[in-house]
Amino acid sequence: AAALSQKFQHETMQQPKTVAIIGGGLSGLACAKYLSDAGHKPTVYEARNVLGGKVSAWQDKDGDWIETGLHIFFGAYPNMMNLFEELDIEDRLQWKPHKMTFAMADKPGQFTSFDFPKGVPAPFNMAAAILSNTEMLTLVEKIKMVPGLLPMLLEGQSFIDAQDELSVLQFMQKYGMPERINDEIFIAMGKALDFIDPDKLSMTVVLTAMNRFINEADGSQTAFLDGNQPDRLCQPIVDHVTARGGEVQVGKPITSIELNPDNTVKYLQCADGSQITADMYVSAMPVDVFKKLIPTKWSTIPYFCQLNELEGIPVINLQIWFDRKLKAVDGLCFSRSLLLSVYADMSVCCEEYASDKASMLELVFAPCSELAGADRNWIAAKDEDIIDATLKELERLFPTEIGPNAVDGGAKVTKSTVVRVPRSVYAAVPGRNKFRPSQESPISNFVMAGDFATQKYLGSMEGAVLSGKLAAEVICDKVAGRPTKGVREVQDSILHQDWKEKAP
Ligand code: FAD
Repeated sequence: AAALSQKFQHETMQQPKTVAIIGGGLSGLACAKYLSDAGHKPTVYEARNVLGGKVSAWQDKDGDWIETGLHIFFGAYPNMMNLFEELDIEDRLQWKPHKMTFAMADKPGQFTSFDFPKGVPAPFNMAAAILSNTEMLTLVEKIKMVPGLLPMLLEGQSFIDAQDELSVLQFMQKYGMPERINDEIFIAMGKALDFIDPDKLSMTVVLTAMNRFINEADGSQTAFLDGNQPDRLCQPIVDHVTARGGEVQVGKPITSIELNPDNTVKYLQCADGSQITADMYVSAMPVDVFKKLIPTKWSTIPYFCQLNELEGIPVINLQIWFDRKLKAVDGLCFSRSLLLSVYADMSVCCEEYASDKASMLELVFAPCSELAGADRNWIAAKDEDIIDATLKELERLFPTEIGPNAVDGGAKVTKSTVVRVPRSVYAAVPGRNKFRPSQESPISNFVMAGDFATQKYLGSMEGAVLSGKLAAEVICDKVAGRPTKGVREVQDSILHQDWKEKAP
């Protein structure tokens, strides 16, 4: 990660290029940041009035920040950590004690954790964390995890990539892992990593995370940003870019990509009627949005056809304010409930939202579509139904504080918000990895960024930053006349299909 950052800083620019970047999420902003480090002149065009995309947030009438998602940073996010360091904002990451906290499925109100001992190198700290926990898995079950995880340790990324055709459950069956490992650990991991249940989720997702956690002593340690993402993370990137001659414009939706006769981009059409021309163009939009913007002449090119195989997964983010302080953990909790994934009491975990009088729980509601394993399409449900269903689940997590058995009548909800993301990160169902496009495209002046584009971190903030960085690298290499990594090979199944039917 650091070496790639250095490459941008050491770029000796003869002729700075103008680069138009569509999308002001983390991938678009990271792309602009590294292009500006290299001396180019990027401009980010963001459709909405707020930056950040899936990390965007806005204030309600009470001044409370409403977030698109509860976001956790991991020690195993090298490009993100680098970015914080380069922007000189590392102190904005609030690192939590190195543990993974799980609600006990059958014991309401009780939690158990994997505690990673300090000063013990990887992978021994993880082994110690798992072996010392006696409440989730038996020793025999822990031993039965080994045959499935050993090849990952020995063969690394090639083994991990090869498991993409299998769901988590299929992988477990293949390696004889007991069902309880799924119930105790993999369901929680799948819902947290990709908002999908393990019978639908690619094993590559779980292995990718485990591989980072096993290889880096601090890989699974988590941090919360100390406040809202647009101010605390996006704005420093904007300041960095503008200080170097770049620009970031909000409220600027791009409505079409217009082409030259040779299929290269001629200009971007904006909703306000203006046209944007640049030397190079980058899409940093989510895959589902980009598919709608693909020009007709590109729609039969296999590189673009393969995007038809990728689709964003729905997820819902909830914030619930209570009239009192709940007994909460300082850190992320795996709820291990049917409807919820992870949650945190932000009045404890995040400096800007801190309160010693009342709790604000931020919760990820997942899976919330049938594709992801939910019993119904929650994304279409009414806010009240979603909040009611969540409060029912919270009765198990906070039995003495929420619900009918709570003492003193229980904690009352003072406010709640429901933010739906109908298409969030690409659904990592089995067999998708091979369709993720490279940053470099077959169009000479067009480059692809976004967390769904090929990089080893799946759909995540780290993946978005790395993808933006790799897109910037393609541009710098092309401009300098250096060889690039090339366009990723497109699968035979795409090359041989009827393009007209499969065109996005
Ligand atoms: P986006 O953030 O989607 O950015 C794309 C941008 O393009 C948006 O700002 C959009 O408005 C803009 N755009 C779209 N169309 C146009 C147009 N026509 N013209 C101009 N602009 C346009 N990741 C983690 O690492 N840890 C977590 O804990 C975590 N939790 C999450 C929780 C939730 C609920 C969600 C939804 C996501 C979470 N993620 C997490 C994933 C992470 O947020 C994303 O992977 C990452 O932010 C994606 O960045 P991106 O730049 O690729 O895309």
